[in-house]
Amino acid sequence: MSNKPKMVILGAGESGLGSAVLALKKGYDVFVSDSGPIREVYKDEFIRRGIPFEEGTHSVDRLMDAVEVIKSPGIPDKAPVVTKIKDAGIPVVSEIEFAGRHTNAHKICITGTNGKTTTTLLTYHVLQKAGLNVGLAGNVGKSFAMQVAESERDFFVLELSSFQLDGMFEFKADTSILLNITPDHLDRYEYQLSKYVDSKFRIINNQNPKDAFIYCADDPILNEALKSRKVTPACYPFSISQSEGMAAYLQNENLVINIKNQILDMSIYNLALQGKHNLYNTMAAGIAARILDIRKEVVRESFADFKNAEHRLEHVMTVHGIEFVNDSKATNVNSAWYALECMQKPVIWIVGGVDKGNDYDTLRELVKSKVKAIVCLGKDNAKIHDAFSDIVPDITDTSSAMDAVQKSYEKGRKGDVVLLSPACASFDLFKNYEDRGWQFKTAVRSL
Ligand code: ADP
Repeated sequence: MSNKPKMVILGAGESGLGSAVLALKKGYDVFVSDSGPIREVYKDEFIRRGIPFEEGTHSVDRLMDAVEVIKSPGIPDKAPVVTKIKDAGIPVVSEIEFAGRHTNAHKICITGTNGKTTTTLLTYHVLQKAGLNVGLAGNVGKSFAMQVAESERDFFVLELSSFQLDGMFEFKADTSILLNITPDHLDRYEYQLSKYVDSKFRIINNQNPKDAFIYCADDPILNEALKSRKVTPACYPFSISQSEGMAAYLQNENLVINIKNQILDMSIYNLALQGKHNLYNTMAAGIAARILDIRKEVVRESFADFKNAEHRLEHVMTVHGIEFVNDSKATNVNSAWYALECMQKPVIWIVGGVDKGNDYDTLRELVKSKVKAIVCLGKDNAKIHDAFSDIVPDITDTSSAMDAVQKSYEKGRKGDVVLLSPACASFDLFKNYEDRGWQFKTAVRSL
């Protein structure tokens, strides 16, 4: 028996491998356990690095002598193995918590219901263009723990979901960003919005007055939650409806960022990311960059030449005057709201999939003014018919991306836009939102 402390890693994906490598480097006796099959690439790495692992099961007796357990965010807290470990008094933490202990880098941490990936990539882009030694991690990029184990970074930009935040305790962000809070993933929070809000606010845990907290002052749920909370870090709110006291705001058609009375302004028409929601994301990234004193010119250039990830309001192509937009990543009502909001042409809206308890009422006004036809893409579309048939008489059911694109095309006229912004998860007909987006793009290209 080894006399080293034992670290158990639950879940052998990207974050599991990274955690295992860092734990090994920090002198732990490491064991990796995954209840499903482990991908070959990861298995090869465990073998190459001499890290013991099991797959297809959790051998409880091999887990219970751990001093700590690092759990992948994909494994629910209520999974029987997690409950057993917790009942035995063994702390369960996330990869982010563990890796955070072993780096002195300045950490910019980004959460919110929507816009995390976009804002994280944009912030990373600005820091990179400024020539800083920066890593990208969390839900995007390579594992945070792996990067901490294998490279020295001065900065990290981390995308954090509420699931990751739930496994963070002592971790401290230097700059935290909370973009927005709208109901989502409530199934994991006993259908209580307050629990989901608490989870999002963990982003400011342990911050001190020298740290920064950047948040959207226009978000009603976030604002309400702020009233009953003690916020220690310096606050940098942003808004598009008010300027007083804001670190970023809109003035006529200019985006203004005001940090330490240094003003940066830029026409919104020069921003690579268009739409109201992206204005918020850009403000958040801009504040984070200016807090670090990144030159105004670098920020402006980065905002103008940024290329967002796929499936987020992505222009696919125009066929006979009909534009096709892939917003497959819009898996909840709020993100679809922003997509519809920024459409300037008559919309043929492809919507549907697995509904996470959607309330479509908030979309009715926009749908009434912008949508000429609805094409449902899902196994069960009854709720969509109920919600909109009185305001959009033209509603068609489809059950494949090919059929949805074909039907939309038939309904389209020159000057229309076909928008895939489903407001739902994709698992009824597709592997994931990426698969849905790719199938949509393939169908468009074959028209
Ligand atoms: P996340 O990583 O939080 O899921 P993404 O940047 O991947 O966020 O965007 C997900 C979806 O939400 C896309 O459809 C995108 O157009 C939309 N979106 C992006 N930013 C925002 C925002 N600030 N508010 C609402 N919706 C947004």
